[in-house]
Amino acid sequence: MDNHLSLDQIRELIKPISGPDGRGTKDADVLVVGAGPIGLTVANILGSLGISTILLEWNELTSDLPKALVIDDEYLRLLDSLDLLDDMEEHLSPPFGIFFYSMRGKPVVKVNPFLTSNGFGNRAGLMQPVFEKKLLQGARRYPCVDLQYRSTVAGLDQEENGVRLKVVRAGREHLVTGRFVLACDGARSFIRSAVNISFAGNRIDQPHLVVDLAEFPDRSPFSRFFCNPERPFNSVPAPYGGRRLEFMLNPGEDHHKIATADSIRDLVDRHTPYKGTPLKIIRSVVYGFSERIAERMGSKRVFLLGDAAHVMPPFGAQAMNTGARDANNICWKIAAVLQGRLNPTILETYETERRPQVEAIIRYSVMIGRMANIRNRIIAAARDAVFQTLNLIPAIQRFFAEMRYMPRPWIKAGFMVRSRRQELVVGRTCPRVSLFLDGGSTKSIDAISDGWFLVVGIAVPTNDLLLLADSRFLSPQFLSICFNDMQCVKVSGVQHARPASPEAEAFLRPLTGRVLLVRPDRYVAAVSTLDGIGAVLAELEKSFGPLREDVSSSPIRSS
Ligand SMILES: Cc1cc2nc3c(=O)[nH]c(=O)nc-3n(C[C@H](O)[C@H](O)[C@H](O)COP(=O)(O)OP(=O)(O)OC[C@H]3O[C@@H](n4cnc5c(N)ncnc54)[C@H](O)[C@@H]3O)c2cc1C
Repeated sequence: MDNHLSLDQIRELIKPISGPDGRGTKDADVLVVGAGPIGLTVANILGSLGISTILLEWNELTSDLPKALVIDDEYLRLLDSLDLLDDMEEHLSPPFGIFFYSMRGKPVVKVNPFLTSNGFGNRAGLMQPVFEKKLLQGARRYPCVDLQYRSTVAGLDQEENGVRLKVVRAGREHLVTGRFVLACDGARSFIRSAVNISFAGNRIDQPHLVVDLAEFPDRSPFSRFFCNPERPFNSVPAPYGGRRLEFMLNPGEDHHKIATADSIRDLVDRHTPYKGTPLKIIRSVVYGFSERIAERMGSKRVFLLGDAAHVMPPFGAQAMNTGARDANNICWKIAAVLQGRLNPTILETYETERRPQVEAIIRYSVMIGRMANIRNRIIAAARDAVFQTLNLIPAIQRFFAEMRYMPRPWIKAGFMVRSRRQELVVGRTCPRVSLFLDGGSTKSIDAISDGWFLVVGIAVPTNDLLLLADSRFLSPQFLSICFNDMQCVKVSGVQHARPASPEAEAFLRPLTGRVLLVRPDRYVAAVSTLDGIGAVLAELEKSFGPLREDVSSSPIRSS
């Protein structure tokens, strides 16, 4: 929803709020360090899974820094599955595309705004301070989550069965214990240092002045990169009818001077068509950037997530979105181990599954910055000539328009079983297809599922599908898809549905006769024939099955 607000109204909205003191719990299954967007997302996921959690944050207030503005389709899907999206809708700007302009101001690459198979726009805008407040509000819904602000983690001790954190609060030290620690404590992570994990990478010499403006007349539904070597800058659609301008600093420019109102006035007058337009500045900050990845994404019972695990320049708008994928990947695995459903080997797949994706997205973010922020006029002219020529080829134009140059997440090894056929489906997110249910209602596949494993039989005999329920491994839900031109046999214990959109039909029809195993994070772990799915489950059980017989019978999702 595009909800236009005045400067004062936006300032009011982004004002930090006081974080809760919490209940003072000293022991929980999971200890989360840091209440940035990733720690708060983790708190929501673990809360929804009914896992006892303590979140420790040293600040008193939520953050008001103008950082992330772009949220992607996969994060929006996650928020939707956590019932957080309805409340955030009015704070999101509509999906937007990207234009890259040559040094002469001609459009050279265009990315359209589009709906992805995750069911949301490829990118929408939100203000991180508002987002964090909404996430905090969401985490407060769960009695199993104790949110403790004003609590600094100052020591860590790992033992065979758990972790102990030294926490300083109001000048006093105490210990908090847990079975696992999720370090979401940002780029300067204390936890990362405490477990001796190095943070290799480089500083990127492309500091930028970031200015958030209210009521700015540039209403283009595109993020516009003006790649002029004299002063590369980006103009990004922001929520509430605002705009973010990001100007690259030239060598030697003073970080404080350039962020003043006079200097911003001068930059806008010189480089944009909005000379003299009154400027309603919400915030302006100069940021320097780095690209780094932790040498390991965890150590024994400690896992690193978000900026604690990786940092990247914001030109691809992916850092926080990548952190959300970390959260979505590790939380269900920890829940499965704590509930005795899977053995702890599953936790090793966090590294296997996430590292290649994180490395790819860092390379992508660095590459976008290198292309957009060229300072040398000759190299910039060559870049423009190459892209203008490439753009003459319709297939390449489409490649850019559909943003296919950005690496989409694809798990190639981990909790999955690869088959020779259907390679493209396995390891990708299962599209959030829309389905007709028995009672006549239409729901997304996510809304049908309880958030745990889902076995989807596509035009296969439903009775046979249910035979899989004999194995309690994974405790999946069963969904049987039937097409309109088919006779459906209804069986209790299985949900029945038909494709409700051309996209659903296009995804499901080619998978006729197949069974999909969809993980709690909505990635497809396996695709098989009905005859083969038993072997697939057996293979996964052999590697990851519970160590003990007494698999928990507690509900998987709590509300
Ligand atoms: C200009 C700019 C633009 C950006 N734009 C985008 C974008 O469009 N899209 C995107 O995806 N990303 C973007 N990012 C990146 C995004 O802001 C970060 O990736 C995100 O904030 C990381 O979240 P986090 O929770 O991992 O860490 P943080 O936000 O750094 O949170 C860490 C938290 O841990 C707490 N903490 C630290 N140490 C301790 C301790 N010892 N004890 C207790 N608490 C502790 C801190 O107080 C903090 O609250 C942008 C960044 C910048 C600078």
